[in-house]
Amino acid sequence: MEPTLTIDGRPEASARSFPVINPANETILCHCPDATPEQLDRAVDAAARAFRSWRQTDRDVRRRGLETLAEKLSEQQEEFARALTLEQGKPLAAARGEVGRAAQILRITAAFDAPVEVLEDSERRRVEVRYEPLGVVGAITPWNAPLLLAAGKVAAALITGNTVIVKPSPYTPVTTLRLGELARDILPPGVLSVLTGGDSLGKAMTEHQGIQKLTFTGSVPTGKAIVRGSADKLAHVTLELGGNDPAIVLEDVDLDHAALPLFWAAFRNSGQICVAIKRLYVQAPAYDAVCEALTRIANDVRLGDGLDSETTLGPIQNAAQFVRVVGILEDTLQTDARILTGGTVPDRPGYFVPPTLVADIAEGTRLVDEEPFGPILPIIRFADVDEAVERANRTVFGLGASVWTRDVERGAEIAARLEAGSVWVNQHGALDPAIPFGGVKQSGQGFVYSAAGLKEYLDRRVIHVARSKASHTGIPPRDAVGDAEAGAST
Ligand code: NAD
Repeated sequence: MEPTLTIDGRPEASARSFPVINPANETILCHCPDATPEQLDRAVDAAARAFRSWRQTDRDVRRRGLETLAEKLSEQQEEFARALTLEQGKPLAAARGEVGRAAQILRITAAFDAPVEVLEDSERRRVEVRYEPLGVVGAITPWNAPLLLAAGKVAAALITGNTVIVKPSPYTPVTTLRLGELARDILPPGVLSVLTGGDSLGKAMTEHQGIQKLTFTGSVPTGKAIVRGSADKLAHVTLELGGNDPAIVLEDVDLDHAALPLFWAAFRNSGQICVAIKRLYVQAPAYDAVCEALTRIANDVRLGDGLDSETTLGPIQNAAQFVRVVGILEDTLQTDARILTGGTVPDRPGYFVPPTLVADIAEGTRLVDEEPFGPILPIIRFADVDEAVERANRTVFGLGASVWTRDVERGAEIAARLEAGSVWVNQHGALDPAIPFGGVKQSGQGFVYSAAGLKEYLDRRVIHVARSKASHTGIPPRDAVGDAEAGAST
């Protein structure tokens, strides 16, 4: 059965639809509804109506709703994983992992609470901060981890008392539509809606006056378009954008333990992960050994259809991205760089690019300077650590970074000098719903995950209760006069 939109708790088709392509063989998997502007308006109205009661709903009821959704998702792990592999391309084992993590994030986020914070409780006054939901949240997601990203945004929006409309990428709409279908019997109508369509639907959500917050994961240009498009209504915006993550490998690296995690931190999901390693800086004495170790691992990779149990690396997710990655590969072949392995695109249906390791390359090339978002890794030689830090930081991105060394104390010191929202030592890309995650520079705005991330779905209201006699009479207490004179009480 073709998937349907979820609006006001009910299934809906649309007059228009668009095809979804299986990236492993380029055949049409199914057609999904292309939501009309009128359907967006109705989804927003339903979400606004639902918000009035959902925000008042006991937190335990909201928590149980998310936990039940997690439970149902886990029960249907296999169906969801298969659908995810078919639409996204990732190997079935990785798809199972994503479904499991989506359920986990629903469960972990469900435990969040934002109690009243008392800042002062003295004879003079009581000052407290209350956290209130914002209203209707618009959640817009990309195609690399569609279910996990949708689940994270849904969980955060709903536990904080908001209602949410999710719009997945038109390349990977199926599992998000299925999540909406699953929620129909669990959550009140209008609390979670799912609309699918092209980029214009995302733009319409961005500009819609009934949507108070936008939470977006995707590319930097789209993130900027969302800030511009929502400026007029001064919507709250959280942006998780692209990265060009550097990993710095020091000469004392423990390669026996580091080679596999280094490799998969770059190549998992065919490099289509925001926090994948995209530039590998290796100190000269370790350079050849690192190149050899990674080449050995790459040569064992089984590229293929994610439904094949032998496959360890799937295709690029869509035709446009495939063309972009192949373009970067062709530009790389024009340079003096050395291709250690890979580099030849197989002549077969599907958007396949083999894991490709490129040595003797440096900044000033597309492969190093841009975010390839594909299975090609530049391995860059450096002499001393100060130079590596400087070169690693020479980018507009600032999502993730890592340092690899036996000396973890020194690793942590170097990590602190790297301009990225998350920096790891002897690992890369480990994310945890209990730990904040976000980008600096042009890699994002705001945080997701943890209390810090969830508070982005809440407004702060500060309540001042005067207790001193002076305040009752309207005569400001001495220190308040001092503040005013200093220009602090504007
Ligand atoms: P994209 O920006 O092209 O699209 C993402 C979503 O935005 C899609 O749903 C799309 O339809 C929608 N969209 C496109 N134009 C829009 C507009 N003008 N207004 C509103 N919505 C619009 O990104 P993509 O190609 O799907 O994903 C790849 C990018 O996402 C990479 O740069 C990657 O690094 C980044 N990404 C970041 C994270 C992170 O957490 N930081 C995670 C995954 C992916």
